[in-house]
Amino acid sequence: MMDWEKVFATRASRMKASEIRELLKLLEQPDIISFAGGIPDAALFPKDAVSQAYAKVLGGEQATVGLQYSVSEGYKPLREWIVGQMAALGIPCKAENVLITSGSQQVLDYLGKIFLSPKDTALVTWPTYMGALGAFNAYEPTYDRLTPMSNRAAASYREDAEKAGGRVKFAYCVPEFSNPTGETMPQQDRERLLDLADELDIAVIEDAAYQSLRYDGESVPPILALDIARNGGDIDKTRTLYCGSFSKTLAPGLRVGWVVAAESVIRKLVLVKQAADLHSSTINQMVIGEVAAEVFAPQVEKVKATYSARRDRMLAALDKSMPEGVEWSKPEGGMFVWVTLPKGMDGAELLARAIADYRIAFVPGRAFHADGSGENTLRLSFSCASFEMIDEGMSRLGDLVRREMVKSAA
Ligand code: PMP
Repeated sequence: MMDWEKVFATRASRMKASEIRELLKLLEQPDIISFAGGIPDAALFPKDAVSQAYAKVLGGEQATVGLQYSVSEGYKPLREWIVGQMAALGIPCKAENVLITSGSQQVLDYLGKIFLSPKDTALVTWPTYMGALGAFNAYEPTYDRLTPMSNRAAASYREDAEKAGGRVKFAYCVPEFSNPTGETMPQQDRERLLDLADELDIAVIEDAAYQSLRYDGESVPPILALDIARNGGDIDKTRTLYCGSFSKTLAPGLRVGWVVAAESVIRKLVLVKQAADLHSSTINQMVIGEVAAEVFAPQVEKVKATYSARRDRMLAALDKSMPEGVEWSKPEGGMFVWVTLPKGMDGAELLARAIADYRIAFVPGRAFHADGSGENTLRLSFSCASFEMIDEGMSRLGDLVRREMVKSAA
């Protein structure tokens, strides 16, 4: 028998299935009400528009283009459509500032690849998107906690990074309706983050996967827009990389995302893409381009109307069902509510009991923490849940938490 561990590179040692993976497998059982998956509701996919776009591309002269190899930068008309979207967000840029990728997940991998040497430090929030940690882990970084609010001195980040054997390379955050907390970073924190990044001379990775899904509240300028404003309107002088995705607005299965940044760093990413997979699926980029041009705005409105009603329902159900001592976020958009249980309770243990005794599921919060903390937290997703599932599920969750609180007090 081959002993694979002996031939794996050191970077593979950090690629481990999470402790909750086994439990989450149980979700396939049909009687479980799940708030665990962070995926869009498939009932909302613009199926007709996608099918018409495939027919249009394949039925005409464009078919040979769609089925052929193409440039690593991405399909030009789609990049130009993105330029228009970015301009509306206060991000003036050119097609040369845009790289199309296979989902925004691929950008995170590429950014790990170009920035992180082993032992370098990546700044991330506690908690952060689990998939970003998964992508960066392959490059063997050290993590330090990003807290724009705390006024922690740049020198202290720098010293800790040196002790760890490298230097700070970037700060990563999900500033809008974050996965996992649902929270939005206020403008003043974004400005402080840019100040810190200036002082440390590092890149800022702005993961905007949920940016289009605002249900209420005031919109906040993207970090890249603030960075451009600080640099006389010139994106090529900025340090922020904005990662966008069609997964939450159109459909994740086509795997189309993008990154917008200074041309000099995009040129480096194009080389990485060329070496990794040459380019993202030509036909899928063309189809996304067609669908976006035809139905993007009404599609986003449809998704927002459905999810915002589910968000309202979940917040109301939590109000009704949760015992005192439990707190939760009040997201203005996105797909997630973040629940903080009283200290001493453990989200992973709670999930085991939730599945066994109450037939409900969620994601325990520890998996989103680079330092393994956050045991008393959990993530609930409302994107795929009907009102009935939400009411019943939150009522069961309330009963479970109450039962466990009584047990731990006894
Ligand atoms: N960033 C965040 C914060 C996400 O939640 C996700 C998907 N769960 C991604 C990036 C990756 O999305 P995609 O690759 O489908 O664009």
